[in-house]
Amino acid sequence: MKTPRKIRHEFVEFIPKDREAGVLYVSIPYATAVHDCFCGCGTKVVTPISPVGWQLTFDGESVSLAPSVGNWSFACRSHYFIRKDRVDWAGDMSDEAIAKGRTRDKAAREGHFGAPVSPPVPPKPPEPEIAKPKPRGFWSWLTGRR
Ligand SMILES: [Zn+2]
Repeated sequence: MKTPRKIRHEFVEFIPKDREAGVLYVSIPYATAVHDCFCGCGTKVVTPISPVGWQLTFDGESVSLAPSVGNWSFACRSHYFIRKDRVDWAGDMSDEAIAKGRTRDKAAREGHFGAPVSPPVPPKPPEPEIAKPKPRGFWSWLTGRR
């Protein structure tokens, strides 16, 4: 499960309730990206796109998200980068080092540094407004002006 995983992006206005696994849904109007955790656990991950949240890069073919997605609060505690429609597991770079560090320094690290560094916990985005006021017809537009 630690090999980079190919995903897909989809630009949408509203994030669908029934999401496909392996798809990063991007809503430009709501400046939000949502996906189901790419480790496969399916937990909904909301990444608000903002100067202090995540930055989305679209190169015309694929999307990237920065910084990495760290799902520390989930059971899976997965941590990965989304780069060019691909999931790079953050552990890949130094699996051994992490494993070593974990056994050796676990207690010390927890004591001294507390929680691992992770992006801000994404706040829940505002619910998209589904019902929009009906556009006025041509006639009422003509006659509706007092
Ligand atoms: Zn997960």
